[in-house]
Amino acid sequence: MPQQGCIAVLNAGSSSIKFAVYEAERDGPLLFHGQVEGIGVAPHLKATDADGKSVAEQRWDAGALDHHAATDAILELGRKLLAGRPVLAFGHRVVHGGTAFAAPTRVDAGVLKALAELVPLAPLHQPHNLAPIEAIARAVPHIPQVACFDTAFHRSQPALAQEFGLPRKLTAEGVRRYGFHGLSYDFILTQLGEAMPALARSRLIVAHLGNGASLCAVRDGKSVASTMGFTAVDGLMMGTRTGALDPGVLLYLMERHGMDAHAIEDLLYRQSGLLGVSGISSDMRALRQSSAAEAREAIALFVYRIVREIGSLAAALGGVDGIVFSAGIGENDPRTRAEVAAGCRWLGLEIDEERNRRGETRISTDRSAVSAWIIPTDEESMIARYTRQVIAGS
Ligand code: ADP
Repeated sequence: MPQQGCIAVLNAGSSSIKFAVYEAERDGPLLFHGQVEGIGVAPHLKATDADGKSVAEQRWDAGALDHHAATDAILELGRKLLAGRPVLAFGHRVVHGGTAFAAPTRVDAGVLKALAELVPLAPLHQPHNLAPIEAIARAVPHIPQVACFDTAFHRSQPALAQEFGLPRKLTAEGVRRYGFHGLSYDFILTQLGEAMPALARSRLIVAHLGNGASLCAVRDGKSVASTMGFTAVDGLMMGTRTGALDPGVLLYLMERHGMDAHAIEDLLYRQSGLLGVSGISSDMRALRQSSAAEAREAIALFVYRIVREIGSLAAALGGVDGIVFSAGIGENDPRTRAEVAAGCRWLGLEIDEERNRRGETRISTDRSAVSAWIIPTDEESMIARYTRQVIAGS
């Protein structure tokens, strides 16, 4: 019997690369997945099979591995675990597709150059996303690679939702709202479209609440508005990111504290959010376990910001039919869901406490005017799906 091919997915962040390998057939199952964490600090590779059984683990000295070398380590592991089964294509998460890339795209030298030109728009993410693409193009140039964009899902937003009140010249230069977490929203809407098509066509607010957090307003399955804008620091308060901030604060920090761009970036992206407000942790589980008043205050602000932004997106949608919770906190923390829902009673949302506690798919009561749902997200499987489609079409 000929050996079945596979699709490999890479999702590179600032200090980690997640990977997942699937059977190549349509909706083919996961074979194994894992990640290299602590790149540049204390690199650690872990991989498990689809049942969660460990299939590989390796550690390196601090600084021994950059993103290119980590990709090489993943390729080597793949060769070992796949034992001769061919990889038909690699799919990648790329945070920024600018205004030009509105759909998953097969990568060639021209596309790679265009994506590298977007680095100034996402300096903290885009270079890390491109590093594995370059490493794979060097190691196995004959295998197709597909870039899947976090911004692409939001290209459907009306022009007004994408603009800042800035002089036109800056808008034309690309200083506009892009929105992120698009692969997660796309996966959730695809799932809803298959299981509950009428709901997927209605007016929805999807809450991706993980370390990074954003909301997306969706109508007819398409993004209408989102809380993240030019960068992934906008909108909701997050694990270590501020979320939306009065720009006057930045001027104050520069003038009063003499902070430069680098120091401000560190403050906005790494020292703020749940971590900054609590002074304890960026991790919701740790804050839920803490009895400190600062932990309660950080969670209260996290929830307050979500409720406020739900109000804003409800206005952009002209009403809401359903709210969807997803990602680490949205899927696993019944208290955050209940607290957000309590702030949304004015919309007609009524949560069923028992359904919420058990984490059922539908957590609103049967008579609630606005329905509420938990839909687990899976960005890697969305990338695999797109990668199959792109290579089948080319
Ligand atoms: P990332 O954005 O890094 O992919 P995740 O989607 O994994 O993040 O979300 C991480 C967040 O989810 C952390 O704040 C973590 O504490 C929270 N989380 C995970 N499981 C639970 C749980 N059982 N209860 C509360 N919070 C949880």
